[in-house]
Parts: sequence; C-alpha cells; structure tokens
Amino acid sequence: MSSHVVIVGGGGTGAALLHDLTLRGISATLFERGEFTSGTTGRHHGQLHSGARYAVGDVEIARECMDEVKVLQRIAPESIEMNYGLFLALNDDDAEYGPRFIESCGEAGISARRVETTQALRMEPGINPNARYAVVVPDGTLDAYRLPMQFLATARQAGAIARSFCEVTGIQSHAGNVTGVEIYDHRAGDTEVISADIVVNAGGPWAGKVAALAGVDLPITPAPGTMVAVKGRLCNMVVSHLHPPGDGDIIVPQRGTSAIGSTQWETDDPDGARTPEDDVRWLLNRADDLLPEFSKAPFHAAWTAARPLAGRSDAGGRSLSRDFEVISHESSGVAGLFSITGGKATVLRAMAEAAADEVAAMLGVDAPCVTAEHPLLSHRDYFRRPA
Ligand SMILES: Cc1cc2nc3c(=O)[nH]c(=O)nc-3n(C[C@H](O)[C@H](O)[C@H](O)COP(=O)(O)OP(=O)(O)OC[C@H]3O[C@@H](n4cnc5c(N)ncnc54)[C@H](O)[C@@H]3O)c2cc1C
Repeated sequence: MSSHVVIVGGGGTGAALLHDLTLRGISATLFERGEFTSGTTGRHHGQLHSGARYAVGDVEIARECMDEVKVLQRIAPESIEMNYGLFLALNDDDAEYGPRFIESCGEAGISARRVETTQALRMEPGINPNARYAVVVPDGTLDAYRLPMQFLATARQAGAIARSFCEVTGIQSHAGNVTGVEIYDHRAGDTEVISADIVVNAGGPWAGKVAALAGVDLPITPAPGTMVAVKGRLCNMVVSHLHPPGDGDIIVPQRGTSAIGSTQWETDDPDGARTPEDDVRWLLNRADDLLPEFSKAPFHAAWTAARPLAGRSDAGGRSLSRDFEVISHESSGVAGLFSITGGKATVLRAMAEAAADEVAAMLGVDAPCVTAEHPLLSHRDYFRRPA
C-alpha cells in the first residue's frame, strides 16, 4: 500500500499543502471541521503583502513576501489585484522613518519609491492632504476565498480528497509513530478512523488544540484582531501608515468595500473571540487619519479573526515574529506528526512547500516542489466534476 498523509485544516495553508503533496505524487486527504476557509483564512484583511511593512524589522520575511507576490501573480492571477500600496507619514517622526523604510525595502528586493504628496493625492484623491511623506510599494489585494479554493480545485482535479465538515477528533499513534486520525463527519453524524503514515496539523490558531489531540504541547499564540469595512472604494490602492507595524495601520480596498485593520490581543480560545465595540469605534476614527471620509461612509461590517502566531511571549503578540515554522513532533514522542504555524496568507504556498519538503523527506520521496511554476485552476473548477 502506498503511504497516506492526512492534513488537518482547510484554510489556505492546508489547501496549498494538499496541492503540493499531490503534485509530488503523494496521496493525501484534507479534513476541515467547517466549510473550507471558515477559519482565519476566509476572514483576514485581504492584503497581498509586498513585505514593505516588515522590511525594517525583518528583511528576510519581507523578501519572502515579495518573492511570493511574484509567484502568486504567475500561478493565481484571478485571485489577485495588483493595485499597489501607498504608505503615508502623517507626522514628523513618521516622516523621519521614511528613508530607512525605503532603504530596507531595497535590501529586501522590494521597489519602494517616494512620491510628493501632490502626486500621492493625484493617485488617491481621498487621502489625508497633510501627509508629510509618501511611498509607493508593490502591495496588492488577494481574494481570501478564491485563492485557497484555486489550490483545492487543482488538487482535487488531480485526484486529492478534501472533506469539509469533517472534524479531526483524535490523533492515533502506536509505539511512538502516528497511525491515523479519528474524524467526526458533521453532515453524516458518523465517526470514522482514517489511517495515515503522516499527519500534518495545519489548524491555524487552533493548531495548539489539534496538537493536544496527540498529547503534544505546541507553542502557539492565537491572536485575534478586529477589522471594519465601509461600503464603497474609498481608495484603489492599499493605504498604510508609514511607521513600525502597529494597530489600525492598513486600509485595504476589497471588491466594493474598504476595510481598516486591525487591532490585536491574545486568547487561548479562538472560537470565543468576539468583536469589541470599542475596537470598532477606535478603528473607524483611526481610518480617518489616512482617509478623512472613511467613518462617514455607510457601515458595511465588523469582524474578528485570530492570527496563528508561532511561539509564545510574555511581551505580547506584536513581539512575536510573523515568520512560520514547520515543527516535527518526533522529539515529543509522536513521529510522523508535524505542525505548521505562523506565517500569513500571502506566503501560504511557501509554507506548504516547507511542510511538504519535510513530509517528502520522511517518506523517502525525492520529487521536488513545483508549485511555484504550476498555474492553478480557477476556483470555479472546485465545483466542477473531476475530469
Ligand atoms: C486580523 C487579521 C488580519 C490578517 N490580514 C492578513 C492580510 O491582510 N494578508 C495576509 O497575508 N495575511 C493576513 N492575516 C494572516 C492570515 O489570515 C493567516 O496567516 C492565514 O489565514 C492562516 O491560514 P491557515 O490555513 O494557517 O489557518 P486557518 O485559515 O485558520 O485554517 C485552519 C483551519 O483548521 C480548521 N480546524 C481547526 N481544528 C480542526 C479539527 N480538529 N479538525 C479539522 N479542521 C480543524 C479550522 O476550522 C480552520 O479552517 C491576517 C490575520 C488576522 C487575524
């Protein structure tokens, strides 16, 4: 019998991993407890990060974002809008940050260009006219639902299995090796046991709870944050504060709306994260700093999603890296169990590549990753009968 891999979690990371393993000829099945993308993936801000936001703090993360933007433009153009980003300094301190920001972007391979405020206003007439310093970077917008569905569609058409509303309720092992998972099919009301040689935990902010099913402690910090959208495109570019990453820094145009985000706090229970009224009010005011008409636009929605930050820190979530980690749990006594945590939606393909490399090495499969060059099918193909 050929080896079989089970992926826990049908967000962007799990979807991209299913695709990668399938292209390497490795049999894999993905289980998602709800609808696909119903976790953090379907609720994030939708920014395709050029990496500029991270360049001063971490050049490597910034470079990785930029690389992945280029890859996604090649393999998934239907899910991406390359609308560029405008960073604005609204006070002297932030304006002083500008030259360092541009220099760090350069080190990361991100083209960042200063423009005069008058030119920035021509590009985006709704921005604060008192901006002191403006920089254009290759940020963009990604469709939170379509992109993961493109990965799932391509994997499925190639024979992979992805099952929604199937919750992994147990991870089984024997003599220190993973042997399979127990799942509960919420639609059928049945419990099944599925054998597996390898289980990859792509549970996002729930990854700690998934790892606990195998008795493993996974260092992770689920960090919820709130976003608020108003009706109408108040900007076509992604408009951000020009300063080190903080709360309420970014306005993303998404279809016919504009969304400001986000706040951030920490929790042990991502399912219990609610949308605080105070955060909604604060974000609406904060958005007016960048786009003065924001809070006057008709309200569209406010919602909350939890970041799956890798690691734990007493200094709070903003002190944790935005990088991702693939962790083997062999040293915790469960060989064949891996977790992938951290990262961001922009780098979902790179996260999948790193996890698939570990899986392939363990199975003795030497097929390389080819996902960066393999155009994805349309998200619509997920719903078509496999050929
Ligand atoms: C407020 C906010 C804004 C963000 N904005 C951006 C942005 O603009 N750009 C960007 O690139 N990134 C952004 N991110 C980060 C990005 O959203 C996440 O890094 C990414 O979506 C995580 O994807 P994932 O697949 O790892 O996790 P998830 O999407 O959470 O997927 C994990 C899945 O596992 C499922 N699951 C859990 N337990 C089980 C179980 N027992 N059995 C089966 N399934 C299970 C869950 O239902 C979930 O669907 C943002 C995050 C937040 C919180």
